[in-house]
Amino acid sequence: MSDTYFTRLLARKGQPLLIAGPCSAETEAQTLATAQGVAALGNIDLFRAGVWKPRTRPGSFEGMGATALPWLQRVKAEFGLPTCVEVATPRHVEEALKFGVDVLWIGARTTVNPFAVQELADALAGTGVPVMVKNPVNPDVALWAGALERLARAGINDLAAIHRGFSTFAPSKYRNAPTWMLPIELKTRFPHIPLICDPSHIGGRRDLLLPIAQKALDLDYDGLMIETHPDPDHALSDAEQQVTPQRLGELLAELKYRRRSTDNADYNSKADELRQKMDVADREIIEALARRMGLVEELAEYKKANDVKILQLDRWQEIFTSRPEWAARAGVNQKFVAELYKLIHIESIRKQTEVLNK
Ligand code: PEP
Ligand code: MN
Repeated sequence: MSDTYFTRLLARKGQPLLIAGPCSAETEAQTLATAQGVAALGNIDLFRAGVWKPRTRPGSFEGMGATALPWLQRVKAEFGLPTCVEVATPRHVEEALKFGVDVLWIGARTTVNPFAVQELADALAGTGVPVMVKNPVNPDVALWAGALERLARAGINDLAAIHRGFSTFAPSKYRNAPTWMLPIELKTRFPHIPLICDPSHIGGRRDLLLPIAQKALDLDYDGLMIETHPDPDHALSDAEQQVTPQRLGELLAELKYRRRSTDNADYNSKADELRQKMDVADREIIEALARRMGLVEELAEYKKANDVKILQLDRWQEIFTSRPEWAARAGVNQKFVAELYKLIHIESIRKQTEVLNK
């Protein structure tokens, strides 16, 4: 791990980082009551509060703006909690820093816009303030990576990424689909940048916080950001997803903090043995794919000789029905096999096109 604000915190703690606080700072009393409850938990590293709120439609509560910044100063002075807020413009950066906010984050609606991110990077350059970057609203890992790169180029090295899920058109039980493959892809590209999960905005519902947070910990995330409010039902923003500090404490206690590895020799030798068997199975899968693609090529030659078209819809429809059925009988996830056959179909068409145009 490289040496940054976040990696130092993590190393000192030896546990996932925990960020809690209200979606929005609404009043001084609400902000301080949340901070008091959160501080009492004893394991919260950063206090969050939205001050400038990006809302989809005008007329919703848009945050208290700079009025709320002195409240955050009190949170830090009275409860010893470092604070963080969302910034979307250079003016937000300037005001937040004037009031001693410790960490800033860039919200999902800002990460989508490279112009806005560049302006923020320019405003942040030389300030030394750590920055967290939420994933963009749309499922585009390059945009998320690009925002981190713009900040890094401006000399900002104290970076973390926050996974808050992605907008989708398809109906879903989530407010924002987690699409776990994308944050994992980001983690692969930037192994030194800590990755934090925001189950509040992914789930959009209190009952989803625990399973989402657990999954994130099991996927080796470095921290959690959870919205906390003293009276969630009456919150001015994101009421359905906020929990009281007390409930947050229970939730954190219900989570299983599993370890990355163990020196238990029995576990290690058994895990090794299973991985070796998987290597063998993978070789068999690849050999079967090679055999299948060889048959595709042979068929393509045959089609070419007989002047027959590539796409035979009936045949593919039959494959898309039968293979998931075979999978179900073999105890394999049907949806997974259906997805796999879409990829196989694409490759088969590519291969046949190559042969026919040779
Ligand atoms: C928030 O954290 O309150 C927020 C507005 O989040 P996002 O940018 O993920 O929508
Ligand atoms: Mn929110």
